[in-house]
Amino acid sequence: MRTDPDCIFCKIVSGDIPCFKLFEDSHTLAFMDINPANPGHVLAVPKEHWEDVYAIPDSLIAATAQTAKRIAEAANKALHPDGINLVQANGPGAAQSVFHFHLHVLPRVKDDALKLNWGPKPGDIGDIEASFEKIKAQLG
Ligand code: 5GP
Ligand code: ZN
Repeated sequence: MRTDPDCIFCKIVSGDIPCFKLFEDSHTLAFMDINPANPGHVLAVPKEHWEDVYAIPDSLIAATAQTAKRIAEAANKALHPDGINLVQANGPGAAQSVFHFHLHVLPRVKDDALKLNWGPKPGDIGDIEASFEKIKAQLG
């Protein structure tokens, strides 16, 4: 499998760094973002290391999108947000900070005035875990 020893998401995929893991299948993983822009912020990633939308094979972007859809449905039922954005960044100019392809599943609160480059701030672990438990319960 394609991997990068210096990549934080590869270390999450391998289990070397812990995460709140919501879902896993043979090609993808979904886990809570550690700096949530809003409650319930989740990342869906391919298990293989591909930098961005230009590099990732079609089959793996499709698999990652399917996982993001599954998470969005569960987060919608669990948290009843006002909306959900699927966001994906390519390159520093687009505020990509981790160069392992990922889709943000980003619940929205009406009038939260969230900018596309929201600027990561550490989340409260208890709050992240509470959102994790609610979404996980909807995933069955
Ligand atoms: P990007 O800025 O590349 O679009 O998104 C990267 C995301 O990865 C950010 O939202 C950031 O909070 C998240 N992130 C960075 N390091 C970690 C980590 O160690 N664990 C988790 N769960 N998320 C991380
Ligand atoms: Zn990686």
